[in-house]
Amino acid sequence: MRIAFLGLGHMGRPMAHNLSDAGHDVVGFDVVDAARDAARAEGLDVTESATDAVAGGADVVITMFQTGAQVLDAYRGADGGPGLLDVAAPGTLFLECSTIAVDEARAAHALAGAAGQRCLDAPVSGGVVGAENATLAFMVGGDAADFEAARPVLEAMGRRIVHCGEAGLGQAAKVCNNMILAVSQIAVAEAFVLGERLGLSHQALFDVASNASGQCWALTTNCPVPGPVPTSPANRDYQPGFAGALMNKDLGLAEHAIDTTGVSARMGLLAREIYQEFANGPGARQDFSGIITTIRTESTD
Ligand code: NAD
Repeated sequence: MRIAFLGLGHMGRPMAHNLSDAGHDVVGFDVVDAARDAARAEGLDVTESATDAVAGGADVVITMFQTGAQVLDAYRGADGGPGLLDVAAPGTLFLECSTIAVDEARAAHALAGAAGQRCLDAPVSGGVVGAENATLAFMVGGDAADFEAARPVLEAMGRRIVHCGEAGLGQAAKVCNNMILAVSQIAVAEAFVLGERLGLSHQALFDVASNASGQCWALTTNCPVPGPVPTSPANRDYQPGFAGALMNKDLGLAEHAIDTTGVSARMGLLAREIYQEFANGPGARQDFSGIITTIRTESTD
């Protein structure tokens, strides 16, 4: 398939490579010169405009941007420029892989439908490592037939691909999953600090909780203390991994979803408050498991 890949950042570039390695005809574009240069230096075919990438007969258009506003602007056109939906051939499949709000994803679907295009929201989890190794998880919202059409493309970039339901429900799954993750990472970090104060070794708490009902990814993969899980960011001074700033972004989307649905999600909102402070302070570039340092600092003597 001919694929236009727009947004050649931390995630997009390795994803585009995997599509190319799988035999697809990939042409990339990014608004930032340095991102285009880096992709070209790595051997990707890169154009000088999004229009060139999309209008050249793309069967699939993938967007991997930072925000929903960027996606909607690109879809409908901004600053007098044409929208991607207008320059693509009718019936082109748009795969929107950025993490954006559920209502923004639904707006993107509506715009695409009105322009005679097909659209799926397909956010990912698995981070840069998952993007590089083609082991991402894709959570997909949209029409079932479009999902089946997209499957071979998604399979070249990921390992677990789930059709979550209609338009926007891929983003809904992403926001719910990351709210669980944030709350559980804070709970695990608080438990280790409490254990320290009570004289419990990190290893002893890990050995018990990882085999008991406290077991979760935040403990067994992203363990916030060095030692028990040698590959966790705690063993490299909390280098990400998944940066606190990105967790804060995702919790902002969760907060928006909580507000619009009226759900009583006190833990989710508290996690948002905690990670907002963390991201505005030491955690902007640290892995989000570094929240344990804040918990220690804020604990009374
Ligand atoms: P990034 O900032 O590294 O890359 C985004 C790229 O999109 C940038 O290079 C930017 O210049 C480009 N861009 C923005 N508007 C554009 C436009 N109109 N046309 C072309 N290019 C445009 O971000 P990232 O880390 O690659 O993340 C991308 C998305 O994936 C985000 O929504 C993020 O929340 C999500 N995500 C990231 C991770 C991660 O670990 N980095 C994990 C899961 C999901």
